[in-house]
Amino acid sequence: MAEVLVFVDHVDGAVRKPTLELLTLARRIGEPVAVALGNGAGDTAATLAEHGATRVLTHEAAEYADYLVVPKVDALQAAVSAVSPAAVLVPSSAEGKEIAARLALRLGSGIITDAVDLEAGEDGPVATQSVFAASFTTKTRVSQGTPVITVKPNSAAVEAAPAAGAVEALTVAFSAAATGTKVTARTPRESTGRPELTEAAIVVSGGRGVNGSENFAIIEALADSLGAAVGASRAAVDAGWYPHTNQVGQTGKSVSPQLYIANGISGAIQHRAGMQTSKTIVAVNKDAEAPIFDLVDYGVVGDLFDVVPQLTEEINTRKG
Ligand code: FAD
Repeated sequence: MAEVLVFVDHVDGAVRKPTLELLTLARRIGEPVAVALGNGAGDTAATLAEHGATRVLTHEAAEYADYLVVPKVDALQAAVSAVSPAAVLVPSSAEGKEIAARLALRLGSGIITDAVDLEAGEDGPVATQSVFAASFTTKTRVSQGTPVITVKPNSAAVEAAPAAGAVEALTVAFSAAATGTKVTARTPRESTGRPELTEAAIVVSGGRGVNGSENFAIIEALADSLGAAVGASRAAVDAGWYPHTNQVGQTGKSVSPQLYIANGISGAIQHRAGMQTSKTIVAVNKDAEAPIFDLVDYGVVGDLFDVVPQLTEEINTRKG
């Protein structure tokens, strides 16, 4: 059976959920071989093995933290040479997409970004993408070289699938370009205690209808009752009511949660582009004609200042 390389997104050995989702998808098209780089790479092995990695290729070097993405591209290229995989899967984060694009260029192959599903095809892996603001679902295949595919978080379930997870050291020779741009400082964002927007299973968003930064407290309260991340439309972000890091849409982040709750958001195409692949969509809007209602599974026509606090209270009551 062909092997499939999975790039491991981890923080000091703690594997992030999108990587475990990639392992689920990788098992559909071959045997997953994980590539873990940087500080704590070896510590990822047990988790990766529990979720189906037959082998874990590791390489620890200061370069991965001190420089931008090129050292990781060098390592993945070395892994491709060593394994000759059927595909390389990378999480669809900003960093993941840059790594994937550079790798595809190096390999002279093709890249598919933001896949939401993956299946085995006769001529190689076939990826599903949702395009043009969810107007179309496309099936795409890379026709030349080793396919490099980035997959959106929440596109697959995390499944337990115990495998050998044999740890092997990867040999990497860094290119001259690897140390071209040095990271001089990192400033961690202040933690809200909420999940990362792109990885959250539930996202609660507010738009222009929220009508002020102070009113975002009711959006946050609903989010916290559900253990959700908070999103915002561009109108809310441009008004200075919520940070740009929380913007959902074409020029913000793309999310694909199990549940997306849009409050006071009209449903412009540029907003839909970032959330249309959510599994269940709920909207609260006082305008029954708002375009968001064309997209929803459940819609509430009403004033969010009435509806959202009641919803929060009901959820908190049921949680006990
Ligand atoms: P509006 O369109 O003004 O809608 C507000 C909604 O709130 C209305 O439907 C109204 O009925 C409802 N409402 C008002 N008061 C209440 C209340 N009390 N209770 C319930 N409902 C209420 N937008 C994004 O979101 N993300 C992007 O990444 C993005 N990128 C863009 C890129 C480009 C190049 C361009 C041109 C635009 C982009 N936009 C983006 C902007 C987009 O076109 C819309 O302008 C924006 O999404 C509108 O935000 P909104 O729905 O919050 O506001």
